[in-house]
Amino acid sequence: MPATAEAKTMTIEANGLKIEAKPGEMLLETLRRAGIHVPTLCHIDGLFPSGACRMCVVEIEGRPGLVPSCACPVTDGMKVETHSPRAIRARKTIIELLLANHPDDCLYCVRCDNCELQTMAAELGVRQRRYGNTANKRRYFEDRSSPSIVRDPAKCILCGKCVRICEEVQGVSAIDFGGRGSDSHICTAFEEGLNVSSCVYCGQCVVVCPTGALTEKSYIREVLTAIADPEMTVVVQHAPSVSVTLGEEFGIKPGTDICGIMTAGLRQLGFDRVFDTGFSADLTIMEEASELVHRINTGGVLPMLTSCSPGWIKYVEEFYPDFIPNVSSCKSPMQMLGAVTKSFYAEREGIAPDKIYSVAIMPCTAKKFEAGRAEMGRNGIPDIDAVLTTRELAEMIRMRGLDVTSLKPEAADTPFGERSTAGKIFGATGGVMEAAIRSAYYFLTGHDLEQLKVEAVRGLDGVKEARVNVDGLEVCVAVVNGLGNAAALLEQIRAGRRDIHFIEVMTCPGGCIAGGGQPRTTNLDAVRERMAALYRIDRDEPVRASHHNPSIKRLYEEYLEEPLSHKSHDLLHTHYAERKVMK
Ligand code: SF4
Ligand code: SF4
Ligand code: SF4
Repeated sequence: MPATAEAKTMTIEANGLKIEAKPGEMLLETLRRAGIHVPTLCHIDGLFPSGACRMCVVEIEGRPGLVPSCACPVTDGMKVETHSPRAIRARKTIIELLLANHPDDCLYCVRCDNCELQTMAAELGVRQRRYGNTANKRRYFEDRSSPSIVRDPAKCILCGKCVRICEEVQGVSAIDFGGRGSDSHICTAFEEGLNVSSCVYCGQCVVVCPTGALTEKSYIREVLTAIADPEMTVVVQHAPSVSVTLGEEFGIKPGTDICGIMTAGLRQLGFDRVFDTGFSADLTIMEEASELVHRINTGGVLPMLTSCSPGWIKYVEEFYPDFIPNVSSCKSPMQMLGAVTKSFYAEREGIAPDKIYSVAIMPCTAKKFEAGRAEMGRNGIPDIDAVLTTRELAEMIRMRGLDVTSLKPEAADTPFGERSTAGKIFGATGGVMEAAIRSAYYFLTGHDLEQLKVEAVRGLDGVKEARVNVDGLEVCVAVVNGLGNAAALLEQIRAGRRDIHFIEVMTCPGGCIAGGGQPRTTNLDAVRERMAALYRIDRDEPVRASHHNPSIKRLYEEYLEEPLSHKSHDLLHTHYAERKVMK
């Protein structure tokens, strides 16, 4: 765009107020920036407007009908009424029609109290049924076939957000619109269960769904049963990003780290031991950085691809099986911690592995799937017994009546409670790469990087690249988040690109801080705050590299011997194979 056009701003009038608009933006964006709330059920920031729900309609002077503000480019001098009686009446009618076909089971719905449909009905004063009756509602079966996601099409309002995220951001297209007219619904290929579809269980559709039509599969009951069993030692680990997001479920500002409070809360919930997945993120780096160094030194398969994001692993198995040899053999931090808990820790404490129930609090719905993979256990005993999302942990805390604001912070337990900040920044896109660079540099040169911060791999951009000089060798790294971005990079490599040594891939846009199991938000500022919190921790704490974590050194001295040892391979590494699914 020419410099003059870029510099030009416009003024519009909304509800009698003069507000500034940027050329090329849609009216909804302008109104939101000015703090004017216009409801929408189908809009996703950053994606092209679909205009499907019509909730954002407004009146514009000189135009005869109502106009969807999400799909209306601003023009200089435009005069807008966002809440005219006609606009409100139209929105109310839309909600009434949606409710006509909606099950009346709000009291039993997992989204009760945070359902966008329910909120809008309340805001618009919908207090009686005007259309439809209970006998004529569409009937659908709930799809509980997947280990991660539950689909309840009866609660679907056909906003299309799930379809768009799955196709346009993730490039998976596991779900789409099916049927016609009043029979329209969201379905998988051949109307099969999600478990046989190409779904990678990332849960990004769950995060954007405005109603209870898409939710995570809950394992709270199984965890409560284990806690109540006196024969079981119930251990819990929490992923690096969870402590900076959990607070949002209790009205605490996004980006507030409540790690100590969360640990205290987990003990009150009845967990016998609280471990930090940040510890095993450090362990992952020890193994992964060593594997990278080994591949570089021995002419192994490059670029090496990270393996800690389970949605990404399933995606490679299904869509890019030719890249399986590039994927690191390291298990994810969650699985590594599960494995050393049921081996080293079990032996040390004299507990039979099958008497340990291992729970993981994750930002992630795909982790539920990962925990059940056949590769993730030994002798028929899984590394991890149950995965709960951040949202499920919040539900357990509410169920138990804990007041998070009055809990006193506590430290995690030995031997897996200590982490470096390199293990903590795993929660943000680029964090794994930065942590790996710190340790790989040390392994190759014998000393630490002068500047531990690797600015080029930080931030929310979908694709980032950096070149690091390691004793004369220029190591080229790339960081991608969102599977659509990953696919684009893999296509470049298929087409002959050969300069990259190491690629970090996170399934979820932004990484785990915006994972499918996190407190629901579509506000990018909240995601930025979560990321900033992790980097503040990295800035402020003294131990900033995985290889300097004292508990990691002890684990190698006492048990694993060294990275890539026989024992490490047995416990901490695995392999993957091509996966055929219905597409
Ligand atoms: S979980 Fe992810 S892959 Fe599966 S349907 Fe939802 S967005 Fe698509
Ligand atoms: S399942 Fe949810 S996100 Fe998808 S179309 Fe239905 S209401 Fe919208
Ligand atoms: S990016 Fe994080 S939350 Fe998303 S699938 Fe990967 S591990 Fe799970």
